[in-house]
Amino acid sequence: MMNSKKSMALFFFCSIIDLEMSEIMKSIYSLTLEEMEEYFLSMKAKKFHALQLFSWLYEKRIHSYDEITNIKKEILNSLKLNYSINHLKIVEIQEDVDVCKYLFELEDSEHIEAVLMRHDYGNSVCISSQVGCNMGCKFCESGRRKKVRNLEVHELVLQLLMIEEHLKERISHIVVMGIGEPFDNYDNLIKFFQIINHPKGFAIGARHITVSTCGVVPKILEFSDFPLQINLAISLHAPNNDIRNKIMPINKAYPLEELIPAIKKYLEKTNRRVTFEYILLENINDSDECALELAKLVKGINCYINLIPYNETNNLDFKRTKTIQIMRFYDILKKNNVNVTIRREFGSKISAACGQLRSKKEEL
Ligand code: SAH
Repeated sequence: MMNSKKSMALFFFCSIIDLEMSEIMKSIYSLTLEEMEEYFLSMKAKKFHALQLFSWLYEKRIHSYDEITNIKKEILNSLKLNYSINHLKIVEIQEDVDVCKYLFELEDSEHIEAVLMRHDYGNSVCISSQVGCNMGCKFCESGRRKKVRNLEVHELVLQLLMIEEHLKERISHIVVMGIGEPFDNYDNLIKFFQIINHPKGFAIGARHITVSTCGVVPKILEFSDFPLQINLAISLHAPNNDIRNKIMPINKAYPLEELIPAIKKYLEKTNRRVTFEYILLENINDSDECALELAKLVKGINCYINLIPYNETNNLDFKRTKTIQIMRFYDILKKNNVNVTIRREFGSKISAACGQLRSKKEEL
């Protein structure tokens, strides 16, 4: 029999191995198809296993490598040692008529959230891109907590897989508009798009995917070279630098005289229409003059403006513009030939504005 000193030593040794294994074990959901192909080639296996594995993960939705029947055991065993088939923990679900909000707990106990919205055209999911956010927009709940870290590729992918599993229906549209600034997590975002857009992956058409940025100019320019036809939305929220500087600190780094030309370059290269999001905040950016100035600012840009009634939060002082003024603002834009819509509101009862559910959970 092993003496107690030896067994203690073995216990510590095994714990260290466990710890190291879990630290080095990457999630299989973090790999693009190309990365999987490279992996199989490096294992002296055939490249086409990548396509098979993609199909097992994203079409058949397996939970264990043991379910795979068309890849040899030795290859699967090496996969098991290197990549985990992991999932995210759903810790809270809030449901309303057309909306459902999910709070996830990550492996390091951080929380993120995603929102499902049922439209007549399908199920749309809004996902988070970071834990916390460094952009500091004054009206936004998520910005109250500084960025802790970027979400890993698998954490982006798994938000969708977990929601579909719960919903038992297909998600047809994805918007990256939850907690975080997606263009501050650019490389992971791009891999995520490649995985979910691939026909053997999550198979969501690029035109059904939208990414929203507060205006990180260098990344807007970089994104104009990305080959997938993903929709770009810009959180504009102000018609001039004075107002924008007051509510969005990013404007000091990339003011409108840099943002607007970057968007024009993006349009030239991609030939796609951009969306400007504009939250209406009472007495801040919602006057008739603001509407006129906004119409002038976007003149000649292939865009449409999405007016967003502000979702008030207990922790911030901003007030939502009265409906009558929202309609006036809308009419002024229309009269000035701007394509404009008013965003349908979802889930104000269930804290569906960015970061509200996580804030409640963590009592920020
Ligand atoms: N950082 C990115 C994406 C996350 S925010 C961006 O800024 O675009 C997604 C959108 O929700 C942004 O347009 C943001 O300004 C808006 N938003 C934040 N808080 C809101 C609230 N309380 N009510 C309505 N919209 C809000």
